[in-house]
Amino acid sequence: MVETLAAPAKYYQGPDILRELYTYIEHIGEKFAVLTDNIVLEIVGDRIREGFEGTGATYDVVLFAGESTREEADRIVELTTRGHHDGIIGIGGGKVTDTAKLVADISGLPVVIIPTAAATDAACSAMSVVYDENGTFVVSKKMKKNPDVVLVDTAVIMGAPLRTFIAGVGDAFACYYEAKACRKSGAMNYNGGVGTQAAFAIAELCNKVLRENAVCAKAAVEKKQWSEALDKTIEANIYLGGVGFENNGCAIAHGVYNGMTAVIKPFHAMHGEAVAVGTLIQLAAEKVSTEEWNDVTDFYKQMGLPVCFEDLGVKNLDDELIMKIADAACTVSPNVHKMPFDVTPALLFDAIRTVQERNGGSIS
Ligand SMILES: [Zn+2]
Repeated sequence: MVETLAAPAKYYQGPDILRELYTYIEHIGEKFAVLTDNIVLEIVGDRIREGFEGTGATYDVVLFAGESTREEADRIVELTTRGHHDGIIGIGGGKVTDTAKLVADISGLPVVIIPTAAATDAACSAMSVVYDENGTFVVSKKMKKNPDVVLVDTAVIMGAPLRTFIAGVGDAFACYYEAKACRKSGAMNYNGGVGTQAAFAIAELCNKVLRENAVCAKAAVEKKQWSEALDKTIEANIYLGGVGFENNGCAIAHGVYNGMTAVIKPFHAMHGEAVAVGTLIQLAAEKVSTEEWNDVTDFYKQMGLPVCFEDLGVKNLDDELIMKIADAACTVSPNVHKMPFDVTPALLFDAIRTVQERNGGSIS
């Protein structure tokens, strides 16, 4: 079995570093396409302008049409070809940055990813989620390479809604538990091998950093006041969780999330919120000790993370819906089958019921 580790070529994180943007990307070229939307532009437009000021380098803003589709990527590839750009910069949420990755993958241009919230661990990975024009999931596409630069302006992240930050903790928190399961089963990561020692150490560190800092970091976001705990948690949400999941693999936590989104429509919870409940379902399936269970749910409660389906806005959960989610999780995603034991719809059905029963969720 081949052991692998993939990560972005360069990662920068700090307060206001967007104001010096070009310093971090000058090795790429002198003319860039900046893919973003009007809302993000209103928040960080001045910073980007400042980041290029007096450098001699230029950029053209390309407004994102709203959905991360293959057609949208092709449209932008054409614009970057006509514009003779040296690189593409994706600034914003997951759909914008995934589209920027796809544009880079098709065109061969270097890509710079600038997340404006720490809501998921997607920024660092060589994965791009593609949807159709109706917003329905099409494929999670593997890119030829990880981003050339990931740049995280912690002042911008701190200004994003608290809910996005908490969801990001939920997404990153799953990393260690899924990594541990994949390591036990020998399941393949997203890189065609199994994680190196460094890969697993990153997943362990992610867990440790979140345990020690995330609750304090939440208070910092609430008060909009920078703290070291916030800085460490942002790194866990974006880098440790991202490099951690890509190199160790996902398991039930993300697999059940895929099942939920396939069955529950419309689904209002954020990715990281649903993955957080997915982690509890995984722990129930693993039949962890009461001590470990309480330890995790205590952390969730302090963090304000969802502990049952009601917290995800899913009401009227009954046995039929639970079975549909369990069935979908076993068919739409390979993730649930990366566990060190056989995962069947019946096993997930029991695990979902366990989470609901233990955490005060109802089953109608
Ligand atoms: Zn995730």
